[in-house]
Amino acid sequence: TDSPSPIVPPATARVSFEFFPPRSDEAEKTLMGTAQKLAAFGPEFVSMTYGAGGSTRERSLQAAAALVRATGTPVAGHLTCVGASREEVNAVARAYWDCGIRHIVALRGDAAEPGSAFTPHPAGYRNAAELVAGLRAIAPFEISVAAYPETHPEAASPQADLDNLRRKLDAGATRAITQFFFTPETFLRFRDKAAGAGITAPIVPGILPIANVAQARRFAAQCGAHMPPELLRQLDGLDADPPLRAEVTTAIAAQLCATLRRHGVEDFHIYTLNRALSSAALCRLLGLPAASAAQSTAGRARQVVQA
Ligand code: FAD
Repeated sequence: TDSPSPIVPPATARVSFEFFPPRSDEAEKTLMGTAQKLAAFGPEFVSMTYGAGGSTRERSLQAAAALVRATGTPVAGHLTCVGASREEVNAVARAYWDCGIRHIVALRGDAAEPGSAFTPHPAGYRNAAELVAGLRAIAPFEISVAAYPETHPEAASPQADLDNLRRKLDAGATRAITQFFFTPETFLRFRDKAAGAGITAPIVPGILPIANVAQARRFAAQCGAHMPPELLRQLDGLDADPPLRAEVTTAIAAQLCATLRRHGVEDFHIYTLNRALSSAALCRLLGLPAASAAQSTAGRARQVVQA
């Protein structure tokens, strides 16, 4: 009989998880439960977003500090330039450092009022590149920045947006995390263009397992993420059937990741929406070992994963 073709061992996938600050005690419990469950997959880091207009400054800080305590996993705090002076933004960065956070996702952010243009605070950072430079002067943070495979809506051109990404990396960021997207080609083309522009820092795809179709369509419209017709067909009507929706949307996210892996992508940043189920299923399908329930504090989980 023919011997099977040689098996190429798959590269190990690495993940990070993004959470947003909870708005109630109940939501906080859910978040901590989610974070602990997902910590069992040994993420590289988990991150906590920062609300529009700095509106969640306190909650972001508290939730990020709680993640440090609850998961033992490295935590990245997001930080934006919106509605605050440089000194105020720097103070938040110092507060992150003081609670053990060594990694910042540095962002410009958007105007607090939906639909209006971002206007820098008169004494504030004007864009993410300036924020990165400011952070370098505060402490030796690891810094990640945002990248846009489908081009940021305000950018003059795709090339201008890539130039901006390069400025953020030149200012001291070491990784870009992308806006979510729905076709592998979208990411792979962007990765090629970035490489062509001499960008060598890792560009980590942001993966959104769809939790709710109507919400995903809204998010996609806001940030200009294209949803191809065949995806819309697969999703059509699923909000009326949540268990089926969960199965289908997890399969869609897993398929996207599998194709990216075949093209050498090893790192995935998962937008969890503070829910464990789809993200955990995705990790399983990526082949990540989960520490057993008995060992599921993150510190142990990391040791098990790394052993
Ligand atoms: P910048 O990199 O500053 O770019 C903003 C726009 O200005 C781009 O169009 C860019 O091309 C252009 N630009 C910048 N500098 C120049 C220049 N010198 N000359 C010409 N054009 C320029 N938002 C939140 O509020 N909180 C969060 O926690 C958060 N987390 C995010 C995480 C990720 C991974 C991503 C992808 C986005 C996140 N956002 C968050 C959204 C983000 O704040 C918005 O997309 C915002 O509109 C742009 O932020 P930025 O850091 O990419 O901005």
